[in-house]
This record gives sequence, C-alpha cells and structure tokens, in this order.
Amino acid sequence: GMFDNLSLKLDRAFKTLKGTGTITEINVATTVKEIRRALIDADVNYKVAKEVTDTIKQEALGRDVLISVSPGQLLVKITQEELTKLMGGTKVEINLTGDPSVVLISGLQGSGKTTFSGKLASLLKRQGRQVLLVACDIYRPAAIDQLKVLGEQVGVEVYAEPGNTNALEIANNAIAYAKKSGKKTVIVDTAGRLAVDEQMMQEIEQLKKALNPSETLFVVDSMTGQDAVNTAKTFDERLDFNGVVLTKLDGDTRGGAAISIRHVVNKPIKFISTGEKMENLDVFHPDRMAQRILGMGDVISLVERAQQSFDEEEAKRINSKIRTNNFNFDDFLSQLEQVKKMGNIKDLMGMIPGMGKAMKGLDIDDDSFKPIEAIIKSMTPAERQQPDIIDGSRRKRIASGSGRTITEVNNLMKQFSDMRKMMKQMNKMGGAKAAMSRLM
Ligand code: GDP
Repeated sequence: GMFDNLSLKLDRAFKTLKGTGTITEINVATTVKEIRRALIDADVNYKVAKEVTDTIKQEALGRDVLISVSPGQLLVKITQEELTKLMGGTKVEINLTGDPSVVLISGLQGSGKTTFSGKLASLLKRQGRQVLLVACDIYRPAAIDQLKVLGEQVGVEVYAEPGNTNALEIANNAIAYAKKSGKKTVIVDTAGRLAVDEQMMQEIEQLKKALNPSETLFVVDSMTGQDAVNTAKTFDERLDFNGVVLTKLDGDTRGGAAISIRHVVNKPIKFISTGEKMENLDVFHPDRMAQRILGMGDVISLVERAQQSFDEEEAKRINSKIRTNNFNFDDFLSQLEQVKKMGNIKDLMGMIPGMGKAMKGLDIDDDSFKPIEAIIKSMTPAERQQPDIIDGSRRKRIASGSGRTITEVNNLMKQFSDMRKMMKQMNKMGGAKAAMSRLM
C-alpha cells in the first residue's frame, strides 16, 4: 500500500516526544503534515486532506500515549477512524426490491460498466438469484458481444436486440422477458460516451424514469483522479444515483478517489472492482478501505474472497488437517489449486499488509507455481502424506524427477516445514482468529 511505513515515519517524528507521554500541539504538527502528504499522495483531494488532518489534530491533542501503542500507531488509528467516517462509516447494501428488481448501470465509456455488469451478475448468481443481463449500449455493437461473452463466462443469460437503436424499447422488452422467464434481477448495461454529453444524459434519464430501478449505480474509473470526482457530480445531478462503483482499484492503485467522491456527492460507494477477472469484485467496506489507504492491507476482503472461491467441503477438510497437525503435500497442492482460482496473485498479495510494496515490479502469475507443482508431483504418495520421510537421497531423486534443482527442493521443504510450524503455533494459540489479529 501507498502508506507503507507511515506509522514508522510518524514514530520517527515522535522520537523527540519520548518521556512526555502526551500528544501536544508542537509534536502533532509535524506528524499531521506527514499524514496530509500521505493522503495527497494517495490521490485525496487537497481540501479534503486538509479537513481530515485538522480533525485528526483535534482528536489527537491531549490523548494519552499508552505504553502499548506507539504515538505513530495511535495517530494512524485515529486517521483510520476519521477516513472510515469520511467514507460513510458502514457499508451500504445494494437495494434489490421489486419483481424483477432493476439495477441500472451508468458511467462514462471505458469506466468499466460492462465488466462490472458481468461481475455483479456473477456475484448475485452466486448468492442464488436468477439474473438477466441486458445489453442497452446501442451505439457500440461490440458492447453486445462483450456482454454476451461475459454472460457466458459467468453463466448468466444476456438479453440483446442487435440492430434495435431504441434503448428504452430494448429495456422494456427485457423486463417483460424477465417476468416471463422467472428472472428476479435485471442488470441493465447502458451506453457510455467518452465525455459527458447531453444526448447520453437524456437517454439514461429516460431509462431511469421508465424502468424505475431499485438501484442506479454510477461506475467510475478510480485511476482518473479529480476527473472522477467531477464526472460523479455531473451524473448525480442528472440521475440522483444510489451508489458508486469504483473500478480498476487493482494492486497499487490509489484509493483516494473513494474519499473525494464520497465527500463531493455524498452517496455511498457500494462496490470496488479490482481486476479483469469476474471474481475481482468486492463489496465496499469503509473501514477496510481506510486500512487499505493507510497501507494496513485488506486482510478481511482477502479472506472473504478466499471463502467465495474455495470449495466449502475442501476447506473444511483442510481445516481439520491443520487443526490436527496433519497438513501434508497433497493438501498443499490442493491449496495451490484453490489459490489459482481466486484470481490474479499479484492483486491478492496487494491486499496483504506490507505486501503491496514488496510485490511492486515483481511479475507473479499462475505460472509461478509451476516449479512447486512439479516438485510435489514428483513425490511418491507416501512422501506427500508423510513429508518427514523425505531425506537427502529422496530429495535428490525428487529434484531430478521434476527437472528442478536440489536447492529448489530444499527451499520448498523449508517453506513447507515453516508453514507447518506456524500452523502448529496457530493451533496452540486458539486458531486462525488469533493469528489474524496478530497479523493486523
Ligand atoms: P465500459 O465501456 O464502461 O463498458 O468499460 P469496459 O467494461 O469495457 O472496461 C474498459 C476496460 O477496462 C476493459 O479493457 C476492461 O477489461 C477494463 N477493466 C474494467 N474493470 C477493470 C478493473 O477493475 N481492473 C482492471 N485492471 N481493468 C478493468
């Protein structure tokens, strides 16, 4: 994350404070400046950043510095609380009332509307809903095909009328079709332009009036910074939308847009899109986003994504093996398979505290697992199940069998044994919860 080491920096700024025990006007000034700079670095609008840091200053002044937390940590915590508040405090659910419920997707061309439509369809389908995707982008014929491909990928039907240039008519027909075919949720993907233009605005206004959607979402590319804020304002004045979807918040993308947009339009952010894979969609949680902006990582979303992609039964089986200290190479291999299903490894690593920076410039993809897989697959079933029997001569055989070096085999063995040690420790400490709280 972009705020990596912010708390370290703040601690350094507080060095002079040693012995005083309270945060004072003088020592808070330097640190508040650091926080403001970090916020601006993360794309938070200057005015907003100044407001935040002024509040933080008020909050921090006079607070006792506890022995257990450093002043830097305390200020980061206050900052996190303040950012959370700024982004609305708590998550706001998408409203899916009506039969069928209609979700209208708006935004500029290229913002990620069509991709998001597919992702949302996939998410709702996984929640057990009957979903229909509707292609209402009448200006870009390729958009229909794009939505069809995505629909097929996630297993959701797509309604389209190629050749028809009346978006309202298509949408009405689609809703009639949804009623007839028992679809409970209709997601309408609309046309976007390169810049806000009047015809497009009128068209989507009409769509909104006629379809009476329970949810109108505004999709915006979080990499467009201040432009994103202005566009959000224009769309909100015309559409009075219900929520914002921030896209392209992958890996290292700054999260500041979330704060600025929320501040300017005062509408909740409901989803964040974090990659091109259909699984890369997360419900927006202000507290987690604040942690992410502060470089504290987003472990909770990571775990949730893991839970979504992981096979429930398999997860249970692995958990019990971990609990009984019986985790072996077969389990490791099966875990690797599951991890690959979760999406781009680099994006995932970006969610782990402190990892974002470490991963920068590294080229990690699914192929990175190949050597490990080759080594494990060269083990005999007995070796996989009882890794302890793998001695020097067996390592040699495994190395030549997999076409990898002895060093690589040794590294994997070491990694695996460290992992098992950590699992044992976790079991002693009372499970994953304890480990997680240590990680945070
Ligand atoms: P639309 O014109 O608003 O429908 O935008 P598209 O859905 O076609 O997206 C435009 C481009 O951005 C496409 O190349 C998408 O693959 C890409 N895209 C969309 N969402 C994301 C995202 O969350 N992360 C990344 N990295 N790319 C995205």
